[in-house]
Amino acid sequence: MRILLIEDQRDIAANIWDYLEHRGFVMDHAGDGASGLRMALDGDYDVIILDLGLPKLDGLDLCRALRAADRETPVLMLTARDTLDDKLVGFAEGADDYVVKPFAMKEVEARLRALYRRGKQPGETLQLADLRLDPLNRIAERAGRRLTLTHSGFTLLETLLRRSPNVVRHAELANALWGESGGDVATLHTHLSVLRAALDRPFPVHLLQTVHGFGYRLADSGDG
Ligand code: CA
Repeated sequence: MRILLIEDQRDIAANIWDYLEHRGFVMDHAGDGASGLRMALDGDYDVIILDLGLPKLDGLDLCRALRAADRETPVLMLTARDTLDDKLVGFAEGADDYVVKPFAMKEVEARLRALYRRGKQPGETLQLADLRLDPLNRIAERAGRRLTLTHSGFTLLETLLRRSPNVVRHAELANALWGESGGDVATLHTHLSVLRAALDRPFPVHLLQTVHGFGYRLADSGDG
């Protein structure tokens, strides 16, 4: 997810940048409203984090200019002023959501992800038998029941489902989880047994099949 952070206060900007970059976001920063607007118009960002009080161009004016240029990029506004009036003005100018300083970074991240999802078209759905997976929103269901999966479990399930009914080798599954840095097969098996418990144990038809010494596959029939 590409984020444009428009914030003039260096310490706040550095905090947000460090936290979000560490969480895997791709960050850009502008320290005043004028350069922020220019970057917002030129760049291709998924969400803009916008401080309300900025030099050169105020956050609300920036937001208004952005919308006047037909840019629909979701805007999360940061404000020190927590009055209802400011919130309403921000929304009228085209802000999509808003957090009050001082804020918890966890909350900023949650709002960003929500705005990102809202800004996207309904995601693709992957399907196998009664299993449905929405990768964008990280939702997995079987027979209409939401599955509770770990982060790793979801990643493995998505990887297997995209390749179903083909077998996915251990090395490819490890790569999906840990990238090139590897991980070990024993830990991989543990993740898959946790996934199996959530995915298959409550249901009569078991989808996750072990191909001994080779890998795993998802299929709704066959000799796994
Ligand atoms: Ca400011």
